[in-house]
Amino acid sequence: MQKNNFPPIGLGTFKQTNDSLIDIVTEALDLGYRHIDTAQFYKNEHLIGKGLENSDIKREDIFITTKVWVEHYNQEKFISSVEKSLEKLKTPYVDLLLLHWPPKPHEFFQALELLNQCKEKKLCNSIGVSNFNITLLEKALKMGIKLFTNQIEFHPLIDQTIQKKFLENHGIRLTAYAPFATGQIFGNRTLRTIAERYHKTIAQVCLRWALQTPNTYPIPKTSSSKRLKENIDIFDFHLAKIDMDVINQLNRVNIRFFDIAGLAPEWD
Ligand code: NAP
Repeated sequence: MQKNNFPPIGLGTFKQTNDSLIDIVTEALDLGYRHIDTAQFYKNEHLIGKGLENSDIKREDIFITTKVWVEHYNQEKFISSVEKSLEKLKTPYVDLLLLHWPPKPHEFFQALELLNQCKEKKLCNSIGVSNFNITLLEKALKMGIKLFTNQIEFHPLIDQTIQKKFLENHGIRLTAYAPFATGQIFGNRTLRTIAERYHKTIAQVCLRWALQTPNTYPIPKTSSSKRLKENIDIFDFHLAKIDMDVINQLNRVNIRFFDIAGLAPEWD
């Protein structure tokens, strides 16, 4: 179930640093998840490596994303940090390597060049960014960097209309992080009403909405086996256009849970 060379749904792993993640990863692969999202910052790449090792699924059928942390955006640390990530993940390459946060202006070009070098050295198959605004995406594109994705906060309560259009126009996939608004989505009455009508849960409606949104790939996180199953059981129903439209309107509240605004002044 690939959609544009990218599994339609991924497993988020932020804030999961105990051994239970090993079984969650193996179980997720058994259930049909084919994309695991991690980061140097999450301090769990070694657990994911063990989960991958315990799985019967072939490496080439799994898509692994990791992200380089900001403290490694320099000549001395960047490539060796990626090599350490690969060691922990027990793999010779990741499918996708991202810059986790925008580099500071003075290190911008170097960080993107180093990211590109990782691809040339075949430490990763593709490269991308995370939390980039349009100005920064344009700068990267001007450098001739081919971006696979921008991983950004995306759920029914945030308005990402402009960024979304930009990504679509430039053939850059939108990886939707925090697709449940870190859990805040579950109290939404509109989503509850829609979910009841489809005999599905709010989580399933939310993920189905993301799936039916063009160019969008959600990466929900759960630490529970039951919810792992629930979150991938979304391929047997389709949201009608009228319900998609209603959910699309929820972004008028425009709530952001991960604050990237503080980065902007440095770029003025
Ligand atoms: P999220 O996926 O929006 O929400 C996770 C929360 O929802 C957890 O509290 C989880 O609890 C709960 N949950 C999951 N499935 C559920 C279900 N079916 N029913 C009820 N509750 C459910 O938040 P997130 O973890 O912040 O974001 C997802 C992933 O995106 C991260 O794990 C990470 O991989 C990535 N991310 C990237 C960035 C970045 O800067 N690039 C930033 C944030 C996140 P349980 O675990 O108890 O199920």
